[in-house]
Parts: sequence; C-alpha cells; structure tokens
Amino acid sequence: MRIKLWGVRGSLPTPMGVQEYQTILGHALAHAQNDFRANPSITAEQLYEGIPAQYRRVIGGDTTCVEVDYRGTCIVMDMGTGARRAGLSIAKRALRDIYVLITHTHWDHIQGFPFFAPAYDPGVTIHFYSCIPDLHERFIRQQHPHYHHVKFEDLPCKTTFTYVEQGEQFEIGNLQMEAQPLIHPGGSASYKIRKENQTFVFATDTEFYGPDLSMLVKKYDQFFHGADLLIIDAQYSLTEAEQKRGWGHTAMTIAVDCAMHWDIERLGLTHHEPAHSDETIRELFARAHEYLEANNPHRHMMELTLAREGEEYFL
Ligand SMILES: [Zn+2]
Ligand SMILES: [Zn+2]
Repeated sequence: MRIKLWGVRGSLPTPMGVQEYQTILGHALAHAQNDFRANPSITAEQLYEGIPAQYRRVIGGDTTCVEVDYRGTCIVMDMGTGARRAGLSIAKRALRDIYVLITHTHWDHIQGFPFFAPAYDPGVTIHFYSCIPDLHERFIRQQHPHYHHVKFEDLPCKTTFTYVEQGEQFEIGNLQMEAQPLIHPGGSASYKIRKENQTFVFATDTEFYGPDLSMLVKKYDQFFHGADLLIIDAQYSLTEAEQKRGWGHTAMTIAVDCAMHWDIERLGLTHHEPAHSDETIRELFARAHEYLEANNPHRHMMELTLAREGEEYFL
C-alpha cells in the first residue's frame, strides 16, 4: 500500500508568502556561500546538497488530500486543494474507477474537487463514500453557479454516493475499511484501511484535549490500537489548543501522547495551522519529538514523522 500526501495544511490553503520565502532563500544562500568559500571548485549540485534540508523543501500549503494506492485501487481521502495536483497525477494513470472518502465537508476538505482532473473525464466513475447522508447535495451546492462555473451535475465523469454508518465496516476492492466518528464541530470521520496485516488510519480534524482526555484516549483505543501508520490532526501548540478549545483540533504533543497509548508504529502529524510558518511547524515538531523521547513507555520507539506535501509512506 502506497500512501501519498497531496495536502497537509489545515483550515485554509496557505501558499508561502514572499517574506518567508526570502528568509529561507537567505539562509540557503548563506550556507552555499560558506561552502563556496571553503571550496571554490565546488559544483552547483554539491552546493545544493550542502544546504540543510529544511531550506530545500517546503512543508506545503495545500489543504487535506491523501492518496492511497493498493495494486491499482485508487482511494483519495478528502478533496482539499491538494486534490488538484493529486488529480493531475491520477489522470495520467487512466484509471476508470476512483474511490473518494470524505471525512467531513469543511471547505478545506472539499474545495479542491472542482479542480480534480479525473472529474472531467467521461470514462471515469468517482465513487464517493462518507458518513454524511446528504453529501451529494453538499457537492452540488459547492458548485452552484454563484461559486463555480461548472455545475456538479454537468461534470463529464459519472458519480456514485455511498453512505456509511459511523462504525460500519465495508470493502473497497480488496481493502477492508472502517469508519469512526471523531471529535469535531459538525462531526468528522476517521477511516481505517486494512490489508493483510497492515493497517493505515487517517484521522484528521479531531480534538483530543480537556479534562476527559484520558477517557477519550481509552474510548478510541479499540479503533486506533496498533495501527502500522496513523496520520492524525496535530494543528496546534499546547497554548493554542487551550485558547481554541472546541475548535476541533489537537496539539502536536497531545497527538504524540495519544499515539503512544494506542501503540502506534508510525505516526504522521498533519493539518498544520495556516498561521504557522514552516519554521514554527518544525519547532513544534522538534518539541513533539523531545516529548516522545522523554515519555516513551515502550522499549520499541514509535517512528514520528512530520506530514509534508509530497511525502510517501509504504505499508
Ligand atoms: Zn480541516
Ligand atoms: Zn474541519
């Protein structure tokens, strides 16, 4: 199973601003200048390789979209603005059936759909799955002529809509799926995908916080326990989580704490706060890493990763 992240930003698409770009470029050039002084015959390629990774790669500003590929079965989780690039990549593979799982319909999880290239291919059927009974109507509404120039009903692709009960198990291709309600204003669903002994859980837009936290961690243990890969909402710092209680998102260190209790093998932290620069996100991630090292109760250390646009995981 190949899992690719096409959008990792939360709430609002966040292209890198000019100021942040210039700061990063300045750091990169300073490193290159030092390397050049030490070795004036250095090649451009070597100069590039010498620049620290954080100045060579951005975290990414597109909102939630995750592609899962298992032996030609293509599942896309959420249609945030990352769906535009995902669609261009998927269109090249000339697939006839694409399975789209929607966690909830906050804008950052659906607004990429009108720009999803396979939707404009009459040979494609897009099979929507969600725990939202009126998902079809919501997608029609999003493409009302007031908001978009192509109506949903006029898209060349075929569509089907399958309603999934919270807690229901279902199948897509040879993959076993399960939906689980999360803690989020208006609701959100987590999806678990199982194949052979491998389990991937995607849990975006959820708030693990507050006096009931240990009870919540226990309540969700059965669903999350032992996942080989969990990609989870980790939008906030601890301070923000306190300030924004009830907004439906989790602090990075709390996400790590929960995952340790659930005995997760590999953890990806996603749905990054749009107000945070790449540097701030990396600082929060470094703190989350320190927290894991200081509190890891197991002999076997969970692998902790920062979700970045273009990142791939293999199970
Ligand atoms: Zn969101
Ligand atoms: Zn949301």
